[in-house]
Amino acid sequence: MSKSKSSETVKVVVRCRPMNEKERDAKFGRVVAVDVKLGQILVRNPKEASSSDHPKVFTFDSVYDWNSKQIDLYDETFRPLVDSVLLGFNGTIFAYGQTGTGKTYTMEGVRNDIERRGVIPNSFEHIFTHISRSQNQQYLVRASYLEIYQEEIKDLLSKDQTRRLELRERPDTGVYVKDLSSFVTKSVREIEHVMNVGNQNRSVGATNMNEHSSRSHAIFVITVECSELDVDGENHIRVGKLNLVDLAGSERQTKTGAQGERLKEATKINLSLSALGNVISALVDGRSSHIPYRDSKLTRLLQDSLGGNARTVMVANIGPASYNVEETLTTLRYSNRAKNIKNKPRINEDPKDALLREFQEEIARLKEQLEKRSGKKKKRRQRKRAGEGSDGEDLEDGETEDDDEEGDDKGDWREQQEKLERERKAIMEDHSLVAEEKVLLLKEKEKKMEDLKKERDAGEMLAAKVKAMESKLLVGGKNIVDHTNEQQKMLEMRRQEIAEQKRREREMQQQMDSRDEETLELKETYSSLQQEVDIKTKKLKKLFAKLQAVKAEIHDIQEAHINERQELEQTQNELTRDLKLKHLIIENFIPLEEKNKIVHRAYFDEEDEYWKTRPITRIEDDHQMMSRPLSAVGYRRPLSHHAHTAMMMRPAMRYKAENIMVLDMDLPARTTKEYQEPVIAPKVAAALESALRDEDEIQVDASGFHSSLGSTLPPGASLKKPKSGRPRTGKKSSTPTSPFSPSSPGSPLYPQSRGLVPK
Ligand code: ADP
Ligand code: MG
Repeated sequence: MSKSKSSETVKVVVRCRPMNEKERDAKFGRVVAVDVKLGQILVRNPKEASSSDHPKVFTFDSVYDWNSKQIDLYDETFRPLVDSVLLGFNGTIFAYGQTGTGKTYTMEGVRNDIERRGVIPNSFEHIFTHISRSQNQQYLVRASYLEIYQEEIKDLLSKDQTRRLELRERPDTGVYVKDLSSFVTKSVREIEHVMNVGNQNRSVGATNMNEHSSRSHAIFVITVECSELDVDGENHIRVGKLNLVDLAGSERQTKTGAQGERLKEATKINLSLSALGNVISALVDGRSSHIPYRDSKLTRLLQDSLGGNARTVMVANIGPASYNVEETLTTLRYSNRAKNIKNKPRINEDPKDALLREFQEEIARLKEQLEKRSGKKKKRRQRKRAGEGSDGEDLEDGETEDDDEEGDDKGDWREQQEKLERERKAIMEDHSLVAEEKVLLLKEKEKKMEDLKKERDAGEMLAAKVKAMESKLLVGGKNIVDHTNEQQKMLEMRRQEIAEQKRREREMQQQMDSRDEETLELKETYSSLQQEVDIKTKKLKKLFAKLQAVKAEIHDIQEAHINERQELEQTQNELTRDLKLKHLIIENFIPLEEKNKIVHRAYFDEEDEYWKTRPITRIEDDHQMMSRPLSAVGYRRPLSHHAHTAMMMRPAMRYKAENIMVLDMDLPARTTKEYQEPVIAPKVAAALESALRDEDEIQVDASGFHSSLGSTLPPGASLKKPKSGRPRTGKKSSTPTSPFSPSSPGSPLYPQSRGLVPK
C-alpha cells in the first residue's frame, strides 16, 4: 500500500521578528543575534554577567532574521514540503512561539499583499499552479478548518458553530475528526474563500480576538488527491494531506489564585502545548516506549506528524527584545529538542478512503446510466423508423453513434414532441370522433407528452450531475505552452536551486566548523615546547569556556524544570482542594445508597475521555431492575404492583397515590366542661323520693285550663306526669329551665326556682 522511505528528522527553523514600535520606543535592547549563514541563533541574557562574551548558541536547520521575506521562507523551507504533499506524502507545518512573535504572520501573513502573504496563501498558489501544469493526472483538492480551544474541537466551516466535534480512531486510517466538514475547491479563489469563512467564524465567537487566538490552536487542512494511470494502464490514487497549524501562544498562562471554572480553564488552555512538549520529549528520549499522544487532542490529531509517517516542519517564532529573553530561550530549547524527532514519511497510495475514487466511480456509474437511456432512445427511434418507412432521415442514421450525443438527443426530443403535437391537432380537427372520445384521446396524448418531458428532464439532470462532478476533478496540461507560464516555471526552478544551494552551503559550513575542532588537534605539529604549551592552553581555555556554557545550560534547564514542577504542584494542590470540596458534598449530602448506585453504573469512556453512566436497565446483575414493573389494577391512577404492595406494607406517604391530604375538619380544642349536678345526700334523696311519690297520688283537674293553654305549649311539653318516680338525672329533665318540672312544690304549673346550683 505504501512505499516506505528511510527516516528523516523534523525540520526546525527559527524566525525572529523585527522590533516593533513599542519596543523601539521603550528602547529595549536587542538580545538575539541571527547568523543566517551558519543557521545559528545567539542569545545574550542581560541578567547574566558572563553572557555578553558567551552568548547561548542554538543551531537549527535554517534561521531567518527580521529582514527575511515571506517568499524566501516559502521557497527554502515550505515549498519542498508542499511538493512532497503533492506527491502523496502527509506534511505538517507548525508555528510555535510566544504570542506576538509572528506565528500568524508566518502562517497567514497579510492576505492581499503578495509580498507579505504567509505559508497558507502561498501554498494555495503553489498547489493549483502545480495542478494546472500537470499532465495526464486528475486532482481533487479539499479543505477543512478547525480549531482546538480548551480541549474542544470546533469546525470552523460548519454552519452550527456551537457544536463540538469528537476524535475517532480507525485502524486503517488512524485518528480523524468525526463529522468534520470539508469543501472541494477548484481554484485558489475558492480555497481562499474557505479560509476566509473559517477565519470569520474564528473571530465571531471570541470577545477578544487576540486573547482567543493566543489560547487556541487553528489547523487548516488541505487534502490533495491525485489519480494517474501507470504503465500497465492501472489507475492509482495518491493522497497527500497538508496540516497548517497555528499553535496557541507558548507563554505560560497565569493561573494564580484561580479556582473552580477558572482553574479548569487555565489548566486546559496549555494542556495541548504541554502535551506536545511531553510527546516531543518522549520521542527524543528514545528510552520511553510510551508516547503520550492521548494526553491531548492536538497531539492525537497530529500523531502522524510527530514520529509518524508525515514530513514535518516546525517554525519557532521569537522576538528580539530583552524583556522577552526568558520566553525566547524557552522557545529555542523547546524547538531544539524537536529537531531530533525522527519521522518515516511514506506515500499514501490507494488508501481506502480516497474521495477521488468515489468520485470516479460515481461518474462512471452515472455515465453508464446516461448511455443506457440514450441507447433505449435510439432503439425506440429505430423501431419507429422501421414502422414509418424511410423518409429522408436516413442521413442521420449514417452519423456515428457518439457524434454530438446531446444535439442528437435534443433533435430526437423535439421531433417526438412535434409529432405528438401534430397528432393532437389531428384529433381536434377530426369531426368523425365523438366529443368524449376526443377528450380521452387528447388526454392520452398529453400524458405521453408529459412523460416524454419528464424523461428528458431526468436525463438532463443526470448529465448536469456528471458535469458538476467532473468539474470538481481538476486536470492540468491546458496552457502548458504558455510563454509566461514557462518563464515563471523557470524562475521558480531557479529560486529553488538557489535555496537548495544556500541550504547546502549552510550544512557544509556547520559540518566544517564541527570538524575543525575535532581535527585541529591531530594535524598540528609543534615547533617548540613553548608553542605547544601556548596552543594547548588556548585550546584548554576554549574547551573550558565550552564546559562552562554547557554547565550554565544545564543549570538553566534545571531551573526551568523546577519552575515547571512547582507550577504543576500548585495546579495539583488547587485541583486537590477542588476535589476535597466535591468529596465533602458527596460524603455528607448524598445518601450512601445513591452514591453506590451511581458508582456502580459509571464507566470511563476512553474515546471521549469522560465518565458516563450506563442506563439503568443494562445493569446485568440486578435482575429486579431489569424486569418491567407490573401494573396494579383497580385504581383510579396507574399504579405499579410494587407501589401497591409498598402502600400496604408501609404507612408512609411515599407510595400513596390518592388522598394524600387529610381534608377532615380541624376542630378547635374545647374550652368548656360538662355540667355535673350537685351530689345529693342519701337522706335528702330518700326524703325527696318519698315526697315525690306522694305527689304522684295528687289528682289535679286542670282540663279547662289545659285546653286554653294547649296552643302555647311547646311541642315537646306535656302535662302528663312522668311514669317513673325516681328523681331525674337525665340532661333534659334536670335542666333548671324546664318549665314543667314535676318536682317543684307549690303551683302545679310553674316550677319554683331552686336557686343557684353550687359548683
Ligand atoms: P502571533 O500570531 O505569534 O501572536 P502575529 O503573527 O500576530 O503574532 O504577529 C504580531 C505582530 O508582529 C503583527 O502585527 C505582525 O504583523 C508583526 N510581525 C510578526 N512577524 C513579522 C515579520 N517577520 N515581519 C514583519 N512584521 C512581523
Ligand atoms: Mg496569532
